[in-house]
Amino acid sequence: MRVIDIIVKKRDGGALTRAEIDFVVAGVTAGTIPDYQTSALLMAMLLRDMSAEETAWLTDAMVASGHRVDLSGIPGVKAGKHSTGGVGDKTSIVVAPIVAACGVVVAKSSGRGLGHTGGTIDKLESIPGFRVAMDRDRFLTALRRIGCVFVGQTPDIAPADKKLYALRDVTGTVESIPLIASSIMSKKIAEGTNVLVLDVKVGRGAFMKTEVDARRLAETMVRIGARVGLTTEAVLTAMDAPLGCAVGNALEIDECIEVLSGRGPSDLAELCVALAARMVRLAGGSDERAAEARVRSVIGSGAALEKFREVVQNQGGDPRIIDDRTRLPHVPASDPFTAPRTGFVATMHADLIGRASMLLGAGREHLESSIDPGAGLRVLAKPGDPVHVGDAIVELHPGAGARIDDARALLAQAVTISDGAPPPVPTIYGIVA
Ligand code: URA
Repeated sequence: MRVIDIIVKKRDGGALTRAEIDFVVAGVTAGTIPDYQTSALLMAMLLRDMSAEETAWLTDAMVASGHRVDLSGIPGVKAGKHSTGGVGDKTSIVVAPIVAACGVVVAKSSGRGLGHTGGTIDKLESIPGFRVAMDRDRFLTALRRIGCVFVGQTPDIAPADKKLYALRDVTGTVESIPLIASSIMSKKIAEGTNVLVLDVKVGRGAFMKTEVDARRLAETMVRIGARVGLTTEAVLTAMDAPLGCAVGNALEIDECIEVLSGRGPSDLAELCVALAARMVRLAGGSDERAAEARVRSVIGSGAALEKFREVVQNQGGDPRIIDDRTRLPHVPASDPFTAPRTGFVATMHADLIGRASMLLGAGREHLESSIDPGAGLRVLAKPGDPVHVGDAIVELHPGAGARIDDARALLAQAVTISDGAPPPVPTIYGIVA
């Protein structure tokens, strides 16, 4: 088999065979196919699209390129969750302890952020002492004992995806539904859970800008999961404006504790309850209402917050942050961004808000950039809220070396004010099961 023939076949709109896909993925993993050929093939896959079969075979091959975690020794159904990512999206940190408090084991593997704000791991590491690195034995022991562990993505999970994603990132080939679906699902399948809930974001701050595309991505991933016995459901959720109010690592942990305490911004709290309830329902086979009632009861009783305390303690973090949030890294607020006129907040462009928070020190511009755990911003008026000229709309927490003026310029683009109230945007658009 020759890579050039496979590239030409795909370039001309042909369907690849399983053997051809296996050949390419094995070559990428072994480093025997040069990046220029892989990149050309990725571009052909993006432009010519891929069938459901090709996408499934690509996923299988990427799973097989690395290690597959065996969770069969842990009693009960193991649940996973994945979000396609957005600004202020801290749901995993809230949802995992809630679901574990409901008695379902949650193995949550996450990445660091590049670009906007930090990823789940960066947010958790803003808790003094919190560590995500652990060997497999410690991971399994903690999972058995506590029912909830957060770990970083290890290099032996779907290594072919790591190589392909790095190339896609620099060759304009990220935005392909089959490539995104196989990339995400290869990692989730290799992580070994039995059920999976996906949060597929739609909007200006998401990969998928339209509900139609988000639904197609969700359907593709749900189908891939079903094919290999990983029961998967997807929730399509809004990502035009930041989720919740906090954007920045320790600021987001603070907000997670609020939601776990039964308070917090309503959009975030609503989504966390919905995602947790789906995971509990999928894992336990209970009906939707019973699962949601169970989720609300562990929040109301304090059991979910106690589970989070256990998780923090188990992973070396300072559990005192839960009762005393002044122990979290903190950067004092500077002058807020204020309303340029009286009216209603009409838009709050998530992508620009994320970039502003990165310029304040909460995210990485380059892989090697460092982040300030206390830096970021807090949204004080959300889309739909009435404001008077001069009212504070966004509170700024600039870290060391923050580019405050540039961040303010982005906020000025991100926030628009209208005379009348904008139409309400739902937090959840729909479910794909
Ligand atoms: N996240 C992934 O893991 N892969 C993609 O292709 C896009 C988002």
